[in-house]
Amino acid sequence: MTVFDLAIVGSGPTGSAAALGALRTDPSLRVALLDRADFPRDKSCGDGIAPHVIDLLARVGVTGVVDDHTPVPRLRLQRDGARVERTMARPTWVIPRAVFDLRLRSAAQAAGAMLLRHRVRDLRAAQLVTVDGEVAARTLIGADGVGSVVRRALGREQGPLAVAIRGYTPTPTERAGAQTIVFDTARQPAYAWSFDRGDGLSNVGYGQLLGARAEHPNRAVLLERLEALLPGASEGGPGSWRGQLLPLSSGRWPRQEGRVLLAGDAAGLVNPMTGEGIYYAVATGLAAGRAAAQAVRAGAPGTAGVRYRRLTRRLLSSHLRHIAAAARLSRFDPVLGAGLRASARHQRVFDDLVELGLARGHLTPTMIRSLGRELLLPSRPADPLRT
Ligand SMILES: Cc1cc2nc3c(=O)[nH]c(=O)nc-3n(C[C@H](O)[C@H](O)[C@H](O)COP(=O)(O)OP(=O)(O)OC[C@H]3O[C@@H](n4cnc5c(N)ncnc54)[C@H](O)[C@@H]3O)c2cc1C
Repeated sequence: MTVFDLAIVGSGPTGSAAALGALRTDPSLRVALLDRADFPRDKSCGDGIAPHVIDLLARVGVTGVVDDHTPVPRLRLQRDGARVERTMARPTWVIPRAVFDLRLRSAAQAAGAMLLRHRVRDLRAAQLVTVDGEVAARTLIGADGVGSVVRRALGREQGPLAVAIRGYTPTPTERAGAQTIVFDTARQPAYAWSFDRGDGLSNVGYGQLLGARAEHPNRAVLLERLEALLPGASEGGPGSWRGQLLPLSSGRWPRQEGRVLLAGDAAGLVNPMTGEGIYYAVATGLAAGRAAAQAVRAGAPGTAGVRYRRLTRRLLSSHLRHIAAAARLSRFDPVLGAGLRASARHQRVFDDLVELGLARGHLTPTMIRSLGRELLLPSRPADPLRT
């Protein structure tokens, strides 16, 4: 059995980033990147890529990932008849995951990772970590998404979940050049989206939080709500509909220890306010890869967890608490309405909101003050949001 320095389960954005982080730290490392799927593979997603993701990739030498795609400059938020639309501080991209994930995986392979097609079923961790009795490694990173086998092998519980469905449909003129989000006041917290890809098609979908006791919506219900909020959107291309669960962050960063680490969706890192997870996937993937490489290089693979905690503390600790608080607050209709009004009045509040929803932002004093004002002074002059 070949012994790798690092085995990574899953080669989505998290897994590829982990390989890149590790090999950037030590190019001589033996890294195996395992996935059950053949690539390119589709993945249910809104395909929204924040500019911060491109920054992180550039830092490990991966450039040009979005060059042949059209940047999306505007974000539109709607609720009942009200809406705010502004240009974002930096544009985002909408890139089908079949394309984006393959590019990252190819970059990981070019950096030296060995790609293995393998569905992982079983994991044993001792002096080495053994995968299905076939692959052995000094360290291992679980980057295997929402249903993570590695998470279950570590005995970690699944956190809160949302469910969403996505499809591709022609972009109507009024939704071109923008990412549109329409909040569903009938089933809060839930929203429909339409993200213009810039090639005549949009990624459209609908997602909602799953309550512990509430009945889970089926595909017909999700598509019916999508159509109610974005008329015409559910007439997407046949075969493009794909649903999936999203593992939402509960606000806490689960303790990472030993030589087996979790990152991205496997670690339950999806923004509970927006459903964005690719930024965390790449950020924690890179950090986990670096931590594993440092630990192996130091001859102490068992210290990977401590190193990973250190590398992610600044990134995650307070940010996760802030998005958890923001997600709880935005479940109250008056707060959501006040947030949209404040964003319509002040570009700064809008920018802070985008930062909180897409990357590593915080609830800023400007946001809190403006929210408070909108909540406490309902007699303010004409609502700037009414369409
Ligand atoms: C409908 C929907 C819309 C979303 N929209 C957005 C968005 O617009 N922007 C955004 O930032 N985020 C979005 N997200 C979240 C985003 O998709 C995830 O956060 C992101 O894919 C996480 O990347 P990952 O690499 O951790 O997991 P994944 O992308 O799920 O990759 C996991 C990989 O592991 C492999 N794997 C799984 N199990 C095994 C196994 N046992 N053995 C071997 N391989 C295995 C899989 O084949 C897969 O390739 C959305 C999610 C959903 C469901």
